[in-house]
Amino acid sequence: MKHSDSIHRYFDGEMTQIEREQLYRHLEGCSECQEHYDEVKKSIALVQSASHIQAPKDFTENVMSALPHKKKRTIAWKKWSKKHPVLVAAAVFLLFMSSMTWLNWTDEWWRDGDFWGR
Ligand SMILES: [Zn+2]
Repeated sequence: MKHSDSIHRYFDGEMTQIEREQLYRHLEGCSECQEHYDEVKKSIALVQSASHIQAPKDFTENVMSALPHKKKRTIAWKKWSKKHPVLVAAAVFLLFMSSMTWLNWTDEWWRDGDFWGR
């Protein structure tokens, strides 16, 4: 078995305690594996920190599942949004911008006193 394979097994949590100890001992004497170990460790940390930022994705899914519709539609939406993440982001952005514009507009309207018929 290649050394890098055992490192992946280590990070997948598939190793026994004895295997792990063997890997640690090997890492001490093998710079190639040490580098690979650090790389995998870094990329895992990156994925973990990225998954924290991904909260809005769950938010979208929660909103979508809260809406009354057929299950088929949810799957279609999920497939579509995975295929066109940029379009979904753009749509959310536009929605956000238009609601901000609308809020600004009503705010002005309110302040000008038109709302009270003056
Ligand atoms: Zn090695």
